[in-house]
Amino acid sequence: MALVPEAVARLVKNGLAIAVEQDAGAGGFFDDDAYRSAGAELVDAEQALGAECVLKVRKPSLDETQRLRDAGVLIATLQPLSSPDLIRALCAKRTTSFSMDAIPRVTRAQPMDSLSSQSNIAGYKAVLLAANSLPKFFPMLTTAAGTVTPARVLVLGAGVAGLQAIATARRLGAVVEAFDTRPVVKEQVESLGGRFLAIDLGEAGGEAAGGYAKELSEEAHRKEQELVAAHVKDADAVITTALVPGRRAPILVTADMVRSMKPGSVIVDLAAEMGGNCELTEPGQTVAREGVTIHGELDLPSTVAVHASQLYSRNVSSFLAHITQDGELKLDFEDEITKGTCITRDGEIVHGPTRAAMGSA
Ligand code: NAD
Repeated sequence: MALVPEAVARLVKNGLAIAVEQDAGAGGFFDDDAYRSAGAELVDAEQALGAECVLKVRKPSLDETQRLRDAGVLIATLQPLSSPDLIRALCAKRTTSFSMDAIPRVTRAQPMDSLSSQSNIAGYKAVLLAANSLPKFFPMLTTAAGTVTPARVLVLGAGVAGLQAIATARRLGAVVEAFDTRPVVKEQVESLGGRFLAIDLGEAGGEAAGGYAKELSEEAHRKEQELVAAHVKDADAVITTALVPGRRAPILVTADMVRSMKPGSVIVDLAAEMGGNCELTEPGQTVAREGVTIHGELDLPSTVAVHASQLYSRNVSSFLAHITQDGELKLDFEDEITKGTCITRDGEIVHGPTRAAMGSA
């Protein structure tokens, strides 16, 4: 849910009128009565979409976009770099749209950073999925019946999700190795008890604007695949999280590498929504290939719906507090956060990276 009842109560106290779609919170165990008690009006989907400012978790469908009020405000996770049809539909509706995944990663905006709050959940749940599918223990166990060696976990991509995966796998007692093209994360990996696999990617490594990864050159990509191949074959579980904004996820684990893994091993591919880091991932499905279980789940945060909603709701309400004053929307497009998060306005695309992506689409 974009707002949990506790957040509704706070916003109502601050002078906003909140309407909540009936039954919308059921999946997260937030029932209509809790919203009513918090001061919300319960409405049907049609009325909800017609609000002055609509808050959602995911992007609206094209049909829902048609039902938004003209020139209204929308706050959701729009994935604007890969949603050209939606962006065109929002322009046609003259919607002022804000995308939660475009919140600039500046200190002031940290409470609004839903990419971080949800990636954190995905990283945690990916390890639980791996542990659940692996026909082995994660921790080392010394028992009267013998000693069990710890599972070996390889984490590819050590951003927010990857770091949480490392921490969770370590808590379960696994031996963890990790790789990222940004060498700056080495220290973070080591501070969580993981071993950082280092290779020199030269100019190709390092960070682009905002601390994100750059797309690798062909030569650097080949070097990385060699490194991954050498470590994948000994791993019991591989968690892949590597993403480059606006691009298809890089293929790090090829079909040949899957073939080299021990039967019963597991891959959890958190990059499935962007095509996957493993060549054999089927987005949205769990498949067995070459004796390896490959998870391509698309929405792990919703399997932790209570806390995912609680954290996303805090992100959304912090952003809402930023763009409202005395119960009214007050949009200051000179402000770095408001401006950086706005995708469409007055029928135009105002977000530079989205305009560039639409240009090349
Ligand atoms: P992301 O989800 O875009 O990507 C996940 C990880 O994959 C990144 O660490 C990236 O470097 C890595 N990656 C990309 N291509 C790869 C490849 N070929 N091989 C291996 N790894 C590859 O990243 P994210 O988790 O959103 O974090 C991106 C940046 O944002 C980081 O620098 C992070 O520290 C920073 N950040 C800043 C703030 C803040 O200041 N408020 C908050 C959260 C994250």
